[in-house]
Amino acid sequence: ALSTARRQVCILGSTGSIGVNTLDVIARHPSRYEVFALTAHRRVEELLQQCLRWAPRYAVMSDAQAAAELRQRLKAAGCRTEVLSGAAALDEVAAHPEVDTVMAAIVGAAGLSPCLAAARAGKRLLLANKEALVVGGAFFMHAVRAGGAQLLPIDSEHSAIFQCLPEDPATWAQRVERIILTASGGPFRQADPASLRDVTPEQACAHPNWVMGRKISVDSATMMNKALEVIEARWLFDLAPEQIEVVIHPQSIIHSMVVCRDRSVLAQLGTPDMRVPIAFGLAYPERIDSGAQAPDFTRLAGLSFEAPDARRFPGLQLAWETLRGAAGSTAVLNAANEEAVAAFLAGTIRFDQIHTVNARTLEDVVPTADAAASLEGLLDLDAGARRHARQLVKGMAA
Ligand code: NAD
Ligand code: MG
Repeated sequence: ALSTARRQVCILGSTGSIGVNTLDVIARHPSRYEVFALTAHRRVEELLQQCLRWAPRYAVMSDAQAAAELRQRLKAAGCRTEVLSGAAALDEVAAHPEVDTVMAAIVGAAGLSPCLAAARAGKRLLLANKEALVVGGAFFMHAVRAGGAQLLPIDSEHSAIFQCLPEDPATWAQRVERIILTASGGPFRQADPASLRDVTPEQACAHPNWVMGRKISVDSATMMNKALEVIEARWLFDLAPEQIEVVIHPQSIIHSMVVCRDRSVLAQLGTPDMRVPIAFGLAYPERIDSGAQAPDFTRLAGLSFEAPDARRFPGLQLAWETLRGAAGSTAVLNAANEEAVAAFLAGTIRFDQIHTVNARTLEDVVPTADAAASLEGLLDLDAGARRHARQLVKGMAA
């Protein structure tokens, strides 16, 4: 008999943009989903409000002091949520035996370890945290298979590709010639490349179509987000690098496309609203209300397409270069980019120097043969690349 029990959901990074959208979808379906665990980095007030609203079994904060404050305030409010802290607690809630579904919505490589824990524990893993897959690569995919986990993409482009493909992954290689990831081009799609020197964090974070966290917003402005998505697609769909293309589509209505062997092209469309891929992942293979609107085609002025300009977006090609390079190169790229974006947001380096940090770190930090074969190896590689990128940043700031 079909179980009528509600699915127990763990949301890693519940206070972020994806986390909040996930709770919005869950709130529409109280008979289907129950919030089992919520986690946040440092924002006590936001996690407190979420705990009071959802009364999860567990709440996790990265920082012990923040956790202590949350624990005390929850107790005062009569909420029985148990508060844990530290990285190991993230792994614990992600792999908890009572959890069915894990939404991975932490930003950056910090999400790799709990994603692996969920994969090994055989969860339905809803992956927004693309950096975890960019760092983990083949090792991550191996953990998914070994643990019997169900990996479903939340990134809108990858959800689009997944929705265009038949349900059985064993048929994909025979049917798919290549995929085309669409990109909005971000706020600087038409900017004079020379003007990118003077871009401020506020200008870089003002995305024309999507409202997102600051790190992914900067990545969209450099198109490093698309580079990370090319790498993500390589692993999710087991494609060769040359089977992945990128086209700029400023309206963000077509979320990506599959070119089949017979040259029939399948596309998935929608308004730019992350609740659609989130609802798709939560309910798969069923379909539930996401709260989003479908596009009104009678009001769309047009859909346009253009090739990305390498002078404006020099970082994009690093995706194919690192995929063809030594295993672990994509982890080095991700680490450098996280450090470079943080330095840009802190006002330490210029916007155009993000690419310089990334390219130089890739030249200087070469992964050892077995670096990408274990979590420890990957975390060491990540740490080494970050140290190197921070040195470069220091040299630029001086
Ligand atoms: P965000 O900055 O809004 O939220 C990040 C969340 O992760 C917060 O809850 C924060 O508390 C937590 N967090 C941050 N650093 C942490 C750390 N070191 N340890 C533990 N927790 C930490 O980011 P977002 O926009 O929601 O993006 C989350 C992920 O989803 C990113 O990987 C992003 O690339 C991906 N994504 C986002 C969107 C979007 O529309 N926002 C779309 C596609 C993919
Ligand atoms: Mg995306």
